[in-house]
Amino acid sequence: MPKIPVKVVSWQDIVGLSESLSEKIKAEFTPDVIIAVARGGLVPARLLADSLGIVDVLSLKVEHWVVTASHTPEARIKYPYKVDLSDKKVLIVDDITDTGDSLILSSKYVGDNFSPRVMKTATLQHIKTSSKFEPDFYAQTITEWAWFMYPWNYWEDEINLVRKVIDERKTTNLSILEEAFKESYGVSPPISLDKILAEMKRRKIID
Ligand code: AMP
Repeated sequence: MPKIPVKVVSWQDIVGLSESLSEKIKAEFTPDVIIAVARGGLVPARLLADSLGIVDVLSLKVEHWVVTASHTPEARIKYPYKVDLSDKKVLIVDDITDTGDSLILSSKYVGDNFSPRVMKTATLQHIKTSSKFEPDFYAQTITEWAWFMYPWNYWEDEINLVRKVIDERKTTNLSILEEAFKESYGVSPPISLDKILAEMKRRKIID
């Protein structure tokens, strides 16, 4: 069994999920404004804006930070602002609900500070078994937790995953890392590991 179950999501998967999400929204709701939860919701929000025909796309930067000494990640709005959306129907969009904290926080923030006439939430994927929050619309229900590597996050995710393997195996040997990556995560890395190691050097993560 992989130590962390990872699923690589392709651009083609994203197109399919976005289309299915868009169909569900169209059947029930006609938003005037989309609010993307940054950064994960940026690409899904832009795709939905296109298929729903919405020109007003705003964004909220949600930051996950570790409370000193407690190691409990908490979500907060990094750059708070106010805007009057009292005559608008608003759709808040994110990529996935895992704990649900980001959407709980975002919808509370939008409700309190933007005062929308109507507010609904949407994600591409919803991890039913872990999330405290159920979005109004989602394309896919997940029942077995995994880390989903979205195509807009390949570099960041892969660097983080490779870093763990390097720490564990104490080597940067390419063929050992390739083998260990598959063993630890159950998938092949979407970006070749030589490019990832070069980027880790450029970012001074490794020597
Ligand atoms: P949440 O735990 O619901 O507040 O998720 C916060 C954000 O972290 C999501 O919008 C994603 O961008 C990212 N994230 C959390 N869990 C996962 C996961 N299982 N797979 C991929 N991305 C995730």
